[in-house]
Amino acid sequence: MNRQSEKESFAFYESYPGHVMIFRWIVLAVIFGLGVYVLSDIKEILGVAYVIYSVVALTFILPLSRCVSCYYYGKACNTGWGRLAAYLFPKGDESQYVKHYSYAILLHLLWVIPFFASFFQLLRRKEIVTLIVFLSYLLLLLVERVTLRKVACTRCHQKYFCPAVPFRKIGVDKSN
Ligand code: SF4
Repeated sequence: MNRQSEKESFAFYESYPGHVMIFRWIVLAVIFGLGVYVLSDIKEILGVAYVIYSVVALTFILPLSRCVSCYYYGKACNTGWGRLAAYLFPKGDESQYVKHYSYAILLHLLWVIPFFASFFQLLRRKEIVTLIVFLSYLLLLLVERVTLRKVACTRCHQKYFCPAVPFRKIGVDKSN
Protein backbone atom coordinates (compact mmCIF):
# COMPACT_ATOMS: atom_id res chain seq x y z
CA MET A 1 0.00 0.00 0.00
CA ASN A 2 1.56 3.34 -1.05
CA ARG A 3 1.47 6.47 1.14
CA GLN A 4 -1.42 8.02 -0.73
CA SER A 5 -3.65 4.94 -0.42
CA GLU A 6 -2.60 4.52 3.24
CA LYS A 7 -3.68 8.12 3.86
CA GLU A 8 -6.99 7.53 2.08
CA SER A 9 -7.83 4.24 3.79
CA PHE A 10 -7.02 5.83 7.15
CA ALA A 11 -9.49 8.57 6.33
CA PHE A 12 -12.35 6.14 5.69
CA TYR A 13 -14.66 5.07 8.46
CA GLU A 14 -14.83 1.31 8.84
CA SER A 15 -17.78 1.92 11.14
CA TYR A 16 -19.21 5.37 11.72
CA PRO A 17 -18.88 6.73 15.26
CA GLY A 18 -21.98 7.13 17.40
CA HIS A 19 -22.04 10.93 17.31
CA VAL A 20 -22.33 10.92 13.49
CA MET A 21 -25.23 8.45 13.62
CA ILE A 22 -26.99 10.44 16.34
CA PHE A 23 -26.58 13.66 14.40
CA ARG A 24 -27.87 12.05 11.20
CA TRP A 25 -30.85 10.57 13.02
CA ILE A 26 -31.77 13.91 14.59
CA VAL A 27 -31.74 15.68 11.21
CA LEU A 28 -33.67 12.89 9.49
CA ALA A 29 -36.18 12.61 12.34
CA VAL A 30 -36.93 16.35 12.21
CA ILE A 31 -37.48 16.15 8.43
CA PHE A 32 -39.66 13.08 8.82
CA GLY A 33 -41.68 14.70 11.61
CA LEU A 34 -42.30 17.81 9.55
CA GLY A 35 -43.30 15.63 6.59
CA VAL A 36 -45.88 13.83 8.74
CA TYR A 37 -47.17 17.17 9.98
CA VAL A 38 -47.51 18.58 6.44
CA LEU A 39 -49.44 15.59 5.12
CA SER A 40 -51.60 15.21 8.23
CA ASP A 41 -52.44 18.89 7.96
CA ILE A 42 -53.98 18.25 4.54
CA LYS A 43 -55.77 15.09 5.64
CA GLU A 44 -55.06 12.76 8.55
CA ILE A 45 -55.20 9.69 6.35
CA LEU A 46 -52.41 11.13 4.18
CA GLY A 47 -50.19 11.40 7.25
CA VAL A 48 -50.92 7.76 8.13
CA ALA A 49 -50.25 6.65 4.53
CA TYR A 50 -46.95 8.56 4.57
CA VAL A 51 -45.85 6.83 7.78
CA ILE A 52 -46.76 3.41 6.35
CA TYR A 53 -44.91 4.15 3.10
CA SER A 54 -41.88 5.32 5.09
CA VAL A 55 -41.78 2.07 7.05
CA VAL A 56 -41.99 0.03 3.82
CA ALA A 57 -39.34 2.19 2.15
CA LEU A 58 -36.91 1.93 5.06
CA THR A 59 -37.34 -1.78 5.74
CA PHE A 60 -37.59 -3.10 2.18
CA ILE A 61 -36.68 -0.59 -0.53
CA LEU A 62 -33.61 0.96 1.11
CA PRO A 63 -32.01 -2.28 2.35
CA LEU A 64 -32.70 -4.19 -0.88
CA SER A 65 -31.76 -1.44 -3.30
CA ARG A 66 -28.67 -0.15 -1.48
CA CYS A 67 -27.64 -1.65 1.84
CA VAL A 68 -27.23 -5.27 0.70
CA SER A 69 -24.73 -4.21 -1.97
CA CYS A 70 -23.00 -1.55 0.13
CA TYR A 71 -19.57 -1.78 1.75
CA TYR A 72 -21.26 -1.01 5.08
CA TYR A 73 -23.59 -4.02 4.98
CA GLY A 74 -23.43 -5.49 8.50
CA LYS A 75 -21.49 -2.44 9.72
CA ALA A 76 -22.47 0.89 11.25
CA CYS A 77 -22.96 3.21 8.29
CA ASN A 78 -23.82 6.85 8.93
CA THR A 79 -27.36 5.92 9.96
CA GLY A 80 -26.58 2.46 11.32
CA TRP A 81 -28.89 0.98 8.70
CA GLY A 82 -26.17 -1.31 7.37
CA ARG A 83 -26.47 -3.35 10.56
CA LEU A 84 -30.23 -3.55 10.40
CA ALA A 85 -30.10 -4.62 6.74
CA ALA A 86 -27.86 -7.53 7.70
CA TYR A 87 -30.59 -8.81 10.03
CA LEU A 88 -33.26 -8.47 7.36
CA PHE A 89 -31.64 -9.63 4.11
CA PRO A 90 -28.60 -11.62 2.92
CA LYS A 91 -25.55 -9.85 1.51
CA GLY A 92 -25.77 -8.95 -2.17
CA ASP A 93 -23.21 -8.14 -4.84
CA GLU A 94 -21.26 -4.93 -4.08
CA SER A 95 -20.58 -4.41 -7.79
CA GLN A 96 -24.33 -3.86 -8.27
CA TYR A 97 -24.48 -0.85 -5.92
CA VAL A 98 -24.51 1.79 -8.65
CA LYS A 99 -26.81 -0.20 -10.94
CA HIS A 100 -29.42 -0.55 -8.20
CA TYR A 101 -29.38 3.18 -7.59
CA SER A 102 -32.19 3.68 -10.12
CA TYR A 103 -34.56 2.41 -7.41
CA ALA A 104 -33.68 5.52 -5.41
CA ILE A 105 -36.65 7.35 -6.92
CA LEU A 106 -38.83 5.28 -4.58
CA LEU A 107 -36.80 6.58 -1.63
CA HIS A 108 -36.77 10.16 -2.90
CA LEU A 109 -40.57 10.11 -2.69
CA LEU A 110 -40.09 10.30 1.09
CA TRP A 111 -39.05 13.94 0.77
CA VAL A 112 -40.55 14.80 -2.64
CA ILE A 113 -44.12 14.13 -1.44
CA PRO A 114 -43.99 16.37 1.69
CA PHE A 115 -42.12 19.04 -0.27
CA PHE A 116 -44.85 19.33 -2.91
CA ALA A 117 -47.55 18.88 -0.27
CA SER A 118 -46.18 21.86 1.68
CA PHE A 119 -46.04 23.88 -1.56
CA PHE A 120 -49.62 22.87 -2.31
CA GLN A 121 -50.68 24.02 1.17
CA LEU A 122 -48.89 27.32 0.65
CA LEU A 123 -50.75 27.96 -2.62
CA ARG A 124 -54.04 26.88 -1.11
CA ARG A 125 -53.95 28.82 2.14
CA LYS A 126 -51.52 31.67 1.51
CA GLU A 127 -50.87 32.03 5.25
CA ILE A 128 -47.67 32.98 7.04
CA VAL A 129 -47.68 29.61 8.85
CA THR A 130 -47.77 27.62 5.62
CA LEU A 131 -44.99 29.81 4.22
CA ILE A 132 -42.86 29.13 7.32
CA VAL A 133 -43.54 25.39 7.06
CA PHE A 134 -42.63 25.35 3.35
CA LEU A 135 -39.41 27.32 3.85
CA SER A 136 -38.48 25.26 6.91
CA TYR A 137 -38.89 22.06 4.97
CA LEU A 138 -36.79 23.43 2.13
CA LEU A 139 -34.11 24.57 4.55
CA LEU A 140 -34.07 21.22 6.34
CA LEU A 141 -33.60 19.37 3.06
CA LEU A 142 -30.65 21.60 2.26
CA VAL A 143 -29.16 21.14 5.73
CA GLU A 144 -29.57 17.37 5.39
CA ARG A 145 -27.73 17.31 2.05
CA VAL A 146 -24.90 19.57 3.20
CA THR A 147 -24.36 17.74 6.48
CA LEU A 148 -24.58 14.32 4.79
CA ARG A 149 -21.73 15.39 2.57
CA LYS A 150 -19.71 16.95 5.39
CA VAL A 151 -20.07 14.38 8.15
CA ALA A 152 -20.67 11.17 6.20
CA CYS A 153 -19.64 11.16 2.53
CA THR A 154 -16.17 12.58 3.09
CA ARG A 155 -15.23 9.51 5.19
CA CYS A 156 -17.24 6.92 3.28
CA HIS A 157 -15.81 3.94 1.41
CA GLN A 158 -18.41 4.47 -1.32
CA LYS A 159 -17.72 8.13 -1.93
CA TYR A 160 -15.88 7.90 -5.26
CA PHE A 161 -18.69 6.14 -7.08
CA CYS A 162 -21.85 6.50 -4.95
CA PRO A 163 -24.54 8.28 -7.02
CA ALA A 164 -26.16 9.56 -3.79
CA VAL A 165 -23.32 11.92 -2.91
CA PRO A 166 -24.79 15.42 -2.72
CA PHE A 167 -23.07 18.00 -4.96
CA ARG A 168 -21.10 15.39 -6.92
CA LYS A 169 -17.78 17.33 -6.80
CA ILE A 170 -16.82 15.10 -3.86
CA GLY A 171 -16.05 12.34 -6.36
CA VAL A 172 -12.69 13.94 -7.13
CA ASP A 173 -12.01 15.26 -3.65
CA LYS A 174 -9.14 13.14 -2.25
CA SER A 175 -8.04 15.43 0.50
CA ASN A 176 -10.10 13.77 3.27
S1 SF4 B 1 -21.00 8.24 -0.21
FE1 SF4 B 1 -22.43 9.43 1.08
S2 SF4 B 1 -24.45 9.01 0.23
FE2 SF4 B 1 -23.07 7.43 -0.57
S3 SF4 B 1 -23.25 5.70 0.84
FE3 SF4 B 1 -21.53 6.97 1.54
S4 SF4 B 1 -22.41 8.37 3.05
FE4 SF4 B 1 -24.13 7.51 1.87
